[in-house]
Amino acid sequence: MFRRSDIRVAVIVYRADWVLPIDTPPIRDGWVAIERGCIAGVGSGQTPGAIDLGRVAILPALVNAHTHLELSYLRGRVPAADRFLDWIGAIMAARRQFSDPRDPAILQAARAGIEEARASGTGLVGDVSNTLVTVPLLRDAAMAARVFYELIGFNADDPAGRVLEARGHIDRTGASEADVRVALAPHAPYSVSPGLFSAIREDLDAHPGDVSSVHLGESLEEVEFIDRGTGGWRDVLTGLGVWTEAWRAPGASSVQYLADLGFLDSRVLAVHAVQCDGDDLSRLRTLGTTVVSCPRSNRYVGVGDPPIEAFYAMGVSVAFGTDSLASVQDLNMFGELAAARRLAPRVSPRHLLESATRSGARALGFGKQFGSIEEGKQAALIAVRLPERADDVEEYLVSGITPEMIQWIGPSPGGPLAPSHHRT
Ligand SMILES: [Zn+2]
Repeated sequence: MFRRSDIRVAVIVYRADWVLPIDTPPIRDGWVAIERGCIAGVGSGQTPGAIDLGRVAILPALVNAHTHLELSYLRGRVPAADRFLDWIGAIMAARRQFSDPRDPAILQAARAGIEEARASGTGLVGDVSNTLVTVPLLRDAAMAARVFYELIGFNADDPAGRVLEARGHIDRTGASEADVRVALAPHAPYSVSPGLFSAIREDLDAHPGDVSSVHLGESLEEVEFIDRGTGGWRDVLTGLGVWTEAWRAPGASSVQYLADLGFLDSRVLAVHAVQCDGDDLSRLRTLGTTVVSCPRSNRYVGVGDPPIEAFYAMGVSVAFGTDSLASVQDLNMFGELAAARRLAPRVSPRHLLESATRSGARALGFGKQFGSIEEGKQAALIAVRLPERADDVEEYLVSGITPEMIQWIGPSPGGPLAPSHHRT
């Protein structure tokens, strides 16, 4: 436990009107002690020598559990769509204009995306990449991340060989002090063959520290294709020249299909789940799979709104993500929380905040370092300025917080918090 005498030895204590540890209810008139970049204690009441931040709420950095930083250069280039396939067509066309994944425009936009995420209070990301170009960028920026090296292959010849080759690419990214961990992930049930799913799952089983991710139950076109093998997706695959008569429609929901393949469990993130029904959600709960909801992106790409209240009512573990700047206007997780709050008024702000912190960190395999204010965890903390009247601080935090209301505390690259920033 934190002891008062520790204050003399490199412990900094911050006092705030509110502290949200996440694993316990909000603390009014609280403090957090930080020692060598880690949380040394949290509590309430008088703390002589504390740096008084005043009318702010201290909370753990948010976790963006699903984004694609390498697509940041597509911001504003892919219009919102009423039909998912229209959006897919537009993004595929836009990506074809930049054939070199190391195009300076791509790298510069990704760097800016990382800084935008940080400025809006995000301290850990789940970043999907087809090229691994974001790994050194995240490391240079000291942004903690789980990078999902995403494989696509509906008609893949040699799944085990593909996975082996991908593993080689991951190994060559090396290691660094920044906590950026890379794992393999399949794109989606309609773009990855059963054999490639199995090969990726074997790789996951062989790497106990890894977690994986899959886009699942996003569009109605996916539902039709996995159930009956027909519709717009089949046309897309045929147009791309990868359709194969060897593929048999599973005749099931996407969740049932991947559960039957043995792919889903507590080490896999199911991204979107917009089209999931009660049976699917019950299955995901039983498997311990975390759903990553991206409500703003869902609306932008034309797949409708996710059943967020049902996720919580069914007891599914929920995290949030922004998805990429090709389908959302910014990487501010507080904007995602505000969208979720509007769609799910019966879900308490406390549960939404827990999803955007602790649940996301756990799902990404960073539960010991991030996601709550607990002794021993990294001091990745933010302070959000509060208005004069914020009786319900949790409600306020899910009402739409913008970057100028946020300041990092402690050992973030932005430097220590200057208390005067928060005196109004
Ligand atoms: Zn995505």
